[in-house]
Amino acid sequence: MDCIFCKIINGEIPSYTIYEDKIVKVFLDVNPMSPGHMLIIPKKHYENLDDINMSTLTHLNVIAKKMHVLLKEKLNIDGMTIVQNNGEVQEVKHYHMHLKPYYKENNGITITQVYEKLMDCKKKNNPE
Ligand code: 5GP
Ligand code: ZN
Repeated sequence: MDCIFCKIINGEIPSYTIYEDKIVKVFLDVNPMSPGHMLIIPKKHYENLDDINMSTLTHLNVIAKKMHVLLKEKLNIDGMTIVQNNGEVQEVKHYHMHLKPYYKENNGITITQVYEKLMDCKKKNNPE
């Protein structure tokens, strides 16, 4: 299947991965609406809200809570919006939840700097 997010999961396309386990992967959006904009996706391909099962959905939300804590701790966000698109407004047809941080003042940091702050590390090479 020609799915860009399945390719990210199997490593064919690199990503700034923030978290992963057996069920989900979390990575930074390549075209962020604000610093720290991340996507939480199931590792199994589900197209949308109609396809995904409740236990996977619950797990995605558990991870969203963890990522909210991380964003508050590491990037000092002032708010966060969760968006999940379906149908005509969904560009990538692999279920994903957007976590979009809000800042009272735009801090203007780059995606690499965001990654380093979230992961407490220095990135050696840029994966995207
Ligand atoms: P949608 O409209 O489907 O909810 O949003 C898809 C999101 O996926 C967009 O915000 C877009 O920037 C992001 N995206 C698309 N292709 C890639 C990619 O190859 N890597 C990453 N990290 N994000 C992507
Ligand atoms: Zn997929």
